[in-house]
Amino acid sequence: MTYAELANQGILTQPVYEAGKPIDQVARELGLDPAGIVKLASNENPLGPSPKALAAAKRALDEAQLYPDGGYYVLRERLARKWGLGMDQFIIGDGSNEILELLGHAFLAPGVECVMHRSSFIVYKLVTLMFGATPVEVPLGPGLRQDLQALAAAVTPRTRLVFLASPANPVGVANTEEEIAALVRALPPQVILVFDEAYAEYLERAPDMRPLIAEGRKVIALRTFSKIYGLASLRVGYGYAARELIAVVQRARQPFNVNGVAAAAATAALDDEEFVTRCRAANRAGMAQLEEGLARLGLEFVPGQGNFILTKVGDGVAVFDALQRLGLITRPVKGYGLPEWLRISVGTPEQNARLLAALAQVLRR
Ligand SMILES: *Cc1c(COP(=O)(O)O)cnc(C)c1O
Repeated sequence: MTYAELANQGILTQPVYEAGKPIDQVARELGLDPAGIVKLASNENPLGPSPKALAAAKRALDEAQLYPDGGYYVLRERLARKWGLGMDQFIIGDGSNEILELLGHAFLAPGVECVMHRSSFIVYKLVTLMFGATPVEVPLGPGLRQDLQALAAAVTPRTRLVFLASPANPVGVANTEEEIAALVRALPPQVILVFDEAYAEYLERAPDMRPLIAEGRKVIALRTFSKIYGLASLRVGYGYAARELIAVVQRARQPFNVNGVAAAAATAALDDEEFVTRCRAANRAGMAQLEEGLARLGLEFVPGQGNFILTKVGDGVAVFDALQRLGLITRPVKGYGLPEWLRISVGTPEQNARLLAALAQVLRR
C-alpha cells in the first residue's frame, strides 16, 4: 500500500500553490546580493508595517510564554467598533486564507459545487478540491472583467459556496457595489457568497456588505492584515458575517489559531488610520507611475484597483526569468491561465523606476 493510496483523495488533487519566492532564496539560486533584490511578486506593502503595529508586536513578544486569548476578545472588540457590528459577527484567522479553509471544513464535501471565476485566486480552487468538492469555473468577461451575471448563472442546486474577490487577484479589476449586491440577492438560499476583500483598503470607497448581512443575505466578507496593513509575515485576517454563520465557522477553528504577537499587531494596526491613508495615496502614485511607464513601453495593461498591475509581456515566464536575473522578482500568471501576462506589485518610486528600466532592457524597447 502506498501513502498516496492511503491518503484522502482531496489532498491528492491539490495543485501546487506557487508562491512568490523569498528574496534570500532568489539570491542564493542566482548568486546575487540579497540587498540588491526587489520583490514585487506578492503584493506586499513596500512601506513596511505600521509603526504602531510593530511597537505592539514587540510589546506582545515579552509575553510569548503565555497562550494568547483564544477568543481574540480585544481584536474582535476593536473590529466590532470599527464596523458597527457585534463582536460575535467576527472570526479571526491565521491569514484570511485560513478562513477560506475553515469555510471548507464547515460547508464543503464531495458532491457539492463551488462557483468561481477562471483566473481567480488559486486558494478558492485548492480549498474546494481539498474537501472533495467540485470547482465550477466561469470565464472572465471582456477586458478580464469579472462577469457576476455569469457567476450567478453557474449556480446549481448543488452549489454551496461562490467565491468572489474585488478587486480581484491576479487581474486587479474591481466590481461595483451594485453588481455585487445584485449577485448576492440572486443567490438561492443554499448558497453563501465568500466575498474576499483583501485589497478593499486600496479603493476610495469599498462596497459595503453590512446592509446585505443585515437583510439576512448569505455572505461572509474576508479582510486581511497582509496587504495595506503590511503584516503579511504575521498571518492575520478576519471574516465578518451574520452571527449564525460565524458561529458555524468558529466550530472549525483551532482554539489558538492566531498567535498573540499577530493579534496585538493587528489590533494596533486598526488604530493607525493615518498609515493606511498614507499607503493608499502612495499606492495610487506608484500605480500611476507604473501605468505611465508601461504605456511608454507600448505594453498593454489592465487598469487595476489593488496594489498590483497585470501587464501583457508576451512570454510571461521568460520575462519573469529575465527580470529575476536582474534582481527583480515579479509574478508570472501562467498557472492562472494567463501565460502572456505578468503581475507586478506596486513598489516604492525607486523600485517602480528600476522595474520599468529592467523591463525596457529585457524587452529591448
Ligand atoms: C493576499 C490575498 C489574500 C490574503 O491572504 P492572507 O492569508 O490573509 O495573507 C486573500 N485573498 C486574496 C485574493 C489575496 O490576494
